[in-house]
Amino acid sequence: MIKSNRLTKEQYEKNFADIHPPFETKEATLVEANRCLFCYDAPCTKSCPTSIDIPKFIKQITTDNIKGSAHTIFQSNIMGAGCSKVCPVEKLCEGSCVYNFMEETPVTIARLQRYSTEKAIEKNWQLFKRKASTGKKVAIVGAGPAGLSCAHVLSREGIDVTIYEKESKAGGLMTYGIAAYKVTPEFCKSEVDYITGIGGIEIKYNHALGQNVSMEELQKNYDAVFLAMGVGLARKIGIPGEELEGVVDAIEYIYRLRTNEYNALPVGDKVAVIGMGMTAIDAATQAKRLGAKEVTMVYRRSEAEKSCTQHELDIARLDGCATIWLAAPKEIVGKDGKVTALVCDVMKLGEPDSLGKPAPVATGETITLDVDMVIKATGQKPFEELVNANNVQNKYGKITIDNNATNIKGVFAGGDCVNGGKEVVDAVQAGKDGAKAILKFILNVEG
Ligand code: SF4
Repeated sequence: MIKSNRLTKEQYEKNFADIHPPFETKEATLVEANRCLFCYDAPCTKSCPTSIDIPKFIKQITTDNIKGSAHTIFQSNIMGAGCSKVCPVEKLCEGSCVYNFMEETPVTIARLQRYSTEKAIEKNWQLFKRKASTGKKVAIVGAGPAGLSCAHVLSREGIDVTIYEKESKAGGLMTYGIAAYKVTPEFCKSEVDYITGIGGIEIKYNHALGQNVSMEELQKNYDAVFLAMGVGLARKIGIPGEELEGVVDAIEYIYRLRTNEYNALPVGDKVAVIGMGMTAIDAATQAKRLGAKEVTMVYRRSEAEKSCTQHELDIARLDGCATIWLAAPKEIVGKDGKVTALVCDVMKLGEPDSLGKPAPVATGETITLDVDMVIKATGQKPFEELVNANNVQNKYGKITIDNNATNIKGVFAGGDCVNGGKEVVDAVQAGKDGAKAILKFILNVEG
């Protein structure tokens, strides 16, 4: 049965407490910082999409220069605090730390990054000064990581930025699409306030492109436009039963969790999650932590092809979520309009497909899971209609760019709306790249 209010207040608090607690003492932080070997040509920096100078910021922690350390991080990544909580560091910086080759635990870079950046946000150390106004204005569509990162770089250069955000809060995926035990809504708000604290950035909430503001208005009233609206809801799987009560979209489910009290969100007794990416893991763990008795994740390929990291999968397993590999959803069965079962084709791996992964092929056998809720997490859909309506060149909804410029003069784009959905840290870098292209276009300077 799908119902809310399954746990006590204390249980919800325990289940949704910060999964990566900060260092307890300054001494513990210093011990960890001093483990860093300050490598020349540091592999950790090379594997960070925003190229944070990691040995430098860690060195600054060892000399108690926390402001300097935060500056080093924010210079490359203004969302360095949020990224320290949500980045899959095991496949990025920490996964490249030389300690891995010595069979020792890598330096806990994210935790150290969190130490400096959280302090900077808490104390509101504004470490960048806005240059004198250039009189130029830029409109950004979307106040997610790409939009905010672009806005901060532009504001630093004396550009006045207006962000048009369709939701009532900023932060995009960080605020609405990530498990609550990784980032709290309060943290997301303080990070956004910190970024806009530089000045020169106005966010117009509840303003959706194509509904509350048109592309023509933006082009007419601003010197350039940056499209950073991310991606939308999950793709339809295209199987019978998808419309039954109890079938939900993972992103929408996480959104509801992020915008309501925990006890208000209904969850089933037996939940199936379709997919094996980060959003699937977040949806599965949240369902379990909301009190679902059984959560089973199904994936049409084998464990070797999963798109989540091993660390993420371990979290789900520790939460008690089961996994079924090589199972492709075939039909959602219902009774009286409500979900009762998920039927899956049993698959085997065949020749590599266009993604280079072995293609799953149906064996002819099926399995049936008795479930009362199905969460779909099979990738998000770009805003194809919106970009087509505005004549922005795209490929199946993903905007086509050349050095961040779209086919329309003065209109630039970056982040998930271009690549279809990557990590938060990739969106931050895309925002920086977009700002660089815009600065060249409107001021003819290299950002
Ligand atoms: Fe420090 Fe590891 Fe980076 Fe080397 S690779 S600089 S030890 S964090």
